[in-house]
Amino acid sequence: MALLFESFDEWKSYCHQKKISLTDAVIEYETEQKGRNREQILQGLAKAWSVMKDAVRTGLEEDMTSRSGMVNNGAKKVYRYPKAVLSKEFQNLISRALAAKEVNSCMGRVVAAPTAGASGIMPGVLFTLQEIHGIDDEKILDAMLLAAGIALIIEQKASIAGAVGGCQAETGTAAAMGAGAIVYCLGGTTDQIFNGVAITIQCMLGLVCDPVAGLVEVPCIVRNASAAAIANSSAQIALADVSSVIPVDEVIEAMGEIGASMETRYKETALGGLAATKTGQAISKKVLIRDIEVLPDEDVK
Ligand code: SF4
Repeated sequence: MALLFESFDEWKSYCHQKKISLTDAVIEYETEQKGRNREQILQGLAKAWSVMKDAVRTGLEEDMTSRSGMVNNGAKKVYRYPKAVLSKEFQNLISRALAAKEVNSCMGRVVAAPTAGASGIMPGVLFTLQEIHGIDDEKILDAMLLAAGIALIIEQKASIAGAVGGCQAETGTAAAMGAGAIVYCLGGTTDQIFNGVAITIQCMLGLVCDPVAGLVEVPCIVRNASAAAIANSSAQIALADVSSVIPVDEVIEAMGEIGASMETRYKETALGGLAATKTGQAISKKVLIRDIEVLPDEDVK
């Protein structure tokens, strides 16, 4: 059973053989791994869903200014901007992903789904999906279970951590979880759900992890918004049965291969990419000086 979450193919055939749903298989896995029953698992998910919704509200209502100054109430500005580029729903999606991630950058409470760096994507996607399609909470919790299964396999086959596989692993996995959840909630088949995951990862491949000053703020916050958008575009494509061509397991293997060959400076070390730009370096220096200034005397001796 523990081997179940090593590939999407195995997940599908296991469910087919046992005549159970994809989400039932995740419950079985959780029960086997952690000894928790269905009710306890669903209770945990309900709590996580409530924290996600709170993070969206907090980010849109309370002051979100980070110590570095790089976060300055961006989500609220986007949410309130009078002109929608596509539609108000799209504007809301982007604002909510930004909002929940800003809460994380300002040290608020979020759900790491799958990591804190990517904690705005699932709340933005699920909140907006529920609002637009009137999905009930029970289905949302099921979608979260499904998303957990998706993350488990990506973790086994590649990585979900920026420090190991670059940002493709972190925001890419969260976007894939979101795409799978959307397709699932809108009645997609198993193949369509997995196709949504494959298309999403195809769109995120190669993305490096290069946080300015080593803080999970820039570019992390805007990447949460773009990943939420990609989750939706991929779900739209997958629901229409447009194939990813490369099967999902192979796409994840490609992500693992790209992550393994990525240079260390692109893996959360803040030594490359945006972190290494002139402005990125200047911000890093400023943040360091400020941190030294606030240290108690004995710590700087
Ligand atoms: S850039 Fe790095 S730290 Fe920021 S969200 Fe991506 S993986 Fe996480």
